[in-house]
Amino acid sequence: MAATPIGNLSDITERAKKVLCEVDFVAAEDTRVSGLLLSKFNIKKSIVNYFEHNKREAGEKIIEELLSGKSCALVTDAGTPAISDPGTELCELAHKNGIKVIPIPGACAAISALCASGFDSRRFIFEGFLPQDNTKDEVLTSLVNEKRTVIFYEAPHRLKKTLSEMYEALGERNICLARELTKINEEFVITTFSEALLMYDEKDPRGEYVIIVGGKTKEEENFWEKLTIVAHVDFYIDKGLSKMDAIKACAKDRGVPKNAIYKEML
Ligand code: SAM
Repeated sequence: MAATPIGNLSDITERAKKVLCEVDFVAAEDTRVSGLLLSKFNIKKSIVNYFEHNKREAGEKIIEELLSGKSCALVTDAGTPAISDPGTELCELAHKNGIKVIPIPGACAAISALCASGFDSRRFIFEGFLPQDNTKDEVLTSLVNEKRTVIFYEAPHRLKKTLSEMYEALGERNICLARELTKINEEFVITTFSEALLMYDEKDPRGEYVIIVGGKTKEEENFWEKLTIVAHVDFYIDKGLSKMDAIKACAKDRGVPKNAIYKEML
């Protein structure tokens, strides 16, 4: 499992180059992309395809080769294999077949973004890309009270929509938009959801993004302390909850039975 650069070619490690030279073959997400990368380092190697939609058959073939005594380096288009990229299943299959798996560490957009964001890196979670199916809301809802820093990946054409959905679900938060890491236009914007949405009303997002969302702070968690019970319930209704669910949410925040909230609403 060899990490490759996420932009700046100098981020390839000496060890990755050595391994890519020494293995019998390379398995790559996109043979053209990895072929170009290898040619930049004057490495000539046979490359097989291993990507999301052929991972079962291709994985089995790669394992057969490995069992016959050959060695293989798995690379993806950029960064660390198996991090929002193919690799997990091949790795699992290798372990099941008693084949040694060796990580060759290197660039990873999530870690590069986090370490230079200034956000709490002592405890964080990685969500990668939000799912694009009907489980998206479930994922966002599960993060509403998350106190740890949360790291997401997003493509530029979906960034605005995603920020707006996150704002809707998580409320106002401190965020960091880490863009084009290790490239000429590298940029860290420390902002909030609402400010970022305003910013992208005026210009379109460009390049690759990591979105870092600060965990919920004590003040954010206790936002309701200054609200009356009616205003507290209205807050959740404005967020799209039914009156019943808003009462439940209000009762949960206050640590009281929902009947107590009902009574106050009458
Ligand atoms: N395996 C990769 C890694 O280790 O970071 C991630 C691959 S994932 C398919 C691609 C996503 O990672 C992009 O859509 C973007 O969100 C993020 N990403 C990759 N390179 C980046 C960069 N140079 N700057 C910012 N984000 C990047």
